[in-house]
Amino acid sequence: MKKTILSGSTVTGDLTLGNYIGAINNWKKMQSEYDCLYFLANLHALTVFQDPKILKERTYSFFAQYLALGLDPQKNIIFAQSHVPEHSELSWVLTCLTPMGNLNRMTQFKEKSEKHVKNINAGLFTYPVLMAADILLYQADIIPVGEDQKQHIELCRDLVGYFENRYGAGIFKMPEPHIPKSGARVMSLQDPTKKMSKSDENEKNFVSIIDDPKKIEKKIKSAATDSGSEIKFDVENKAGISNLLTIYSVLSDKSIEQLEKDYEGKMYGHLKVDLAELVVSTLKPVKDEYDRLMQDRTHLDKLMLDGAERARVRAKTTLARVYEAVGLLHR
Ligand code: ATP
Ligand code: MG
Repeated sequence: MKKTILSGSTVTGDLTLGNYIGAINNWKKMQSEYDCLYFLANLHALTVFQDPKILKERTYSFFAQYLALGLDPQKNIIFAQSHVPEHSELSWVLTCLTPMGNLNRMTQFKEKSEKHVKNINAGLFTYPVLMAADILLYQADIIPVGEDQKQHIELCRDLVGYFENRYGAGIFKMPEPHIPKSGARVMSLQDPTKKMSKSDENEKNFVSIIDDPKKIEKKIKSAATDSGSEIKFDVENKAGISNLLTIYSVLSDKSIEQLEKDYEGKMYGHLKVDLAELVVSTLKPVKDEYDRLMQDRTHLDKLMLDGAERARVRAKTTLARVYEAVGLLHR
């Protein structure tokens, strides 16, 4: 039996090079070998302010972005979280098992509540519980994510333990994170001490996978670099250049050592010009395919509903077993 993979992305902003390098590039590699489910986390998006019209539109846009990046809706189950109500239902059961102390330790909550001081809602706090429900509903074995999500997966694993202690074993599978060796934490272009995030207010901090070539070039060329002039991978002293080298290495399949050799004696500007060209040529076909897909909304709708139906069959099976185990009436 193939192992099951599950992962998703919050429906905020547009997917970035960070999401691509840290997560979706790996989803793509896994789609032939594994049984894969990839979802659009639109319920998670509600943890920050959303304009209803934009949220709806963006859900289609994200679906098209997944497809344009190379995810195949036939090989994988690709669906929107809100199409499968079992996510919210399992989340409630798990919420009642989650100690507040565990959630208090979550760094994403701390970071996001500092960023959204006017909207520190309970959903932002319980976000990792919904994420655990996303994973456990599908009996997922492996969760391919960037470094920032490691702590949330640990919480999910703790919840499996708490559930088993109270209700007995055998309902959930224990998931394992899969974090790439290179590119697990792509950094912001202007502030390379922070991670690149698609919800960043300053769009100079990220490259979106559907940015036009001129914009990409400008953003990469104006990326913050460090004092000195040597092109060397050194995260502590040369965070900016190290980040550019990481992006270059993943997109070109060349090792960092090889790149350091290639750029020995050259200026930062050289590296930026070449990297901008590489990013543009990598993303040009993605943008073209995205534009094509977005023209046929009916087709996207059909694919999305098909994904939702296939996901729901599985989600229902797990939820029924959970309700039975905890003593909740269900139909
Ligand atoms: P937001 O700012 O809305 O939280 P995000 O860019 O952090 O957006 P998520 O939807 O939270 O994106 O995460 C989607 C996937 O991308 C996750 O697997 C996450 O670990 C990964 N990811 C996010 N940012 C990075 C990054 N800078 N480098 C590598 N992987 C990343
Ligand atoms: Mg995030």
